Amino acid sequence: MPRRSPAPSAADLTARVYGAGPTGALAALALARSGWQVQIVDPLPAAALLERSRAYALTHSSADLLLQLDLWAALAPACAPFRRLELCDRSLAQQVSFEAVDLPGRHGRADAAAVGWILEHRPLMEQLLAALQQHPAIALQLGVPPASFPTDAVALEVAADGHGSPRRQAARIRQWRRPYRQGCLTVQVGLRGSASDQAWELFRAEGPFAVLPLGGEAFQLVWSAPLHKLQQLVRLEPARFLDALSAALPEWLQAEVLLDQPRAFPVALELAWPLRRGGLLLVGEAAHRSHPVGGQGLNLCWRDVAALQHWAARVAAGRLAARHLPARYARSRWLDIALVLLATDALVWLFSNRQPLLLPLRRLALLLLARFRSLRRLSLSAMTDGPCRHRWR
Ligand SMILES: Cc1cc2nc3c(=O)[nH]c(=O)nc-3n(C[C@H](O)[C@H](O)[C@H](O)COP(=O)(O)OP(=O)(O)OC[C@H]3O[C@@H](n4cnc5c(N)ncnc54)[C@H](O)[C@@H]3O)c2cc1C
Repeated sequence: MPRRSPAPSAADLTARVYGAGPTGALAALALARSGWQVQIVDPLPAAALLERSRAYALTHSSADLLLQLDLWAALAPACAPFRRLELCDRSLAQQVSFEAVDLPGRHGRADAAAVGWILEHRPLMEQLLAALQQHPAIALQLGVPPASFPTDAVALEVAADGHGSPRRQAARIRQWRRPYRQGCLTVQVGLRGSASDQAWELFRAEGPFAVLPLGGEAFQLVWSAPLHKLQQLVRLEPARFLDALSAALPEWLQAEVLLDQPRAFPVALELAWPLRRGGLLLVGEAAHRSHPVGGQGLNLCWRDVAALQHWAARVAAGRLAARHLPARYARSRWLDIALVLLATDALVWLFSNRQPLLLPLRRLALLLLARFRSLRRLSLSAMTDGPCRHRWR
């Protein structure tokens, strides 16, 4: 018989979430769905939360969470599926294709034929904010300065306030940080030469370059290269920027028109430790940040939310004492987070160069991947569900 904790009191099931970005908003919805009363606060007003020009690559682990939270049906029309992912090593002129058959056991889920989806920030946040406003167990406070945040006692505090996390800093939780020499440029373009349901990860000596379908001929580009070079590129006239883009893309992909303003930003490997202190726990970029290679960032953030939901539901069901939740959460998350940070860092280290000693290793790895479906399945599953799938179960 499973051990039961005393039934939780109403005060045990109260939480405050700091930050209403993609992670905080979903964390609040996950807690409320598990029977908790939730306050969520963010200094930005709703209009500013919607504003970012970004698109996220979602994997099946994220789609599963959206399905569980009854958000998938509303978001699916805005999600552009990709059914094929082409991994290209430009220095070796070698290519490997991943398809949905390399992801077995997906039947009955969001869309068994998709390797993943690209979702733009605005439709995502519109749905999340609408769901937060409609949920009777959620008190949403946006555009409130931190000095005016509620201070009443709650059983659980969730810091989802981004990589600078003021809440984490106030709790004196330390963050380890290693900046990459590479930065990242994001831009949306009209592009010819790729199927509209095909994504590309191009490994170039100056850094990885992702080409992600947004539907039709629209694509989101995530271009990694030395930051100073990217900062010069974003200042170019559109025609000159497109010329520079043509020189970076393979000859079969032609960017024809800019659909938004290119933006460059620094990237870093960041990890806060420990992931909890007292009744406070860290989720999303407040806890970790990785290189954008492989589109792991937001999916890793949302697996934090899936784990939080799992433990929160156990507390609500009287199967875990509320005071044990932060420790259980932290124990269940460290391995996935550490492995994703290590794996993305290893990919950047291995593929962002033309080192003669590393080229044969890369050639062998790509040959093996192209030859053996079992290896493609293993690596695509790790990218999709994380290297240690649902370890908290
Ligand atoms: C410039 C930039 C561009 C990016 N582009 C892409 C991209 O193209 N594709 C992609 O997949 N990923 C991209 N990322 C990464 C992606 O944005 C993150 O993975 C994702 O936003 C993480 O979500 P989050 O909710 O954890 O953090 P955030 O989105 O950073 O949300 C944190 C929230 O906390 C709020 N906050 C701040 N201070 C406080 C406080 N004191 N109290 C309460 N709340 C507070 C903020 O207002 C914000 O709403 C980009 C990141 C950056 C910085």
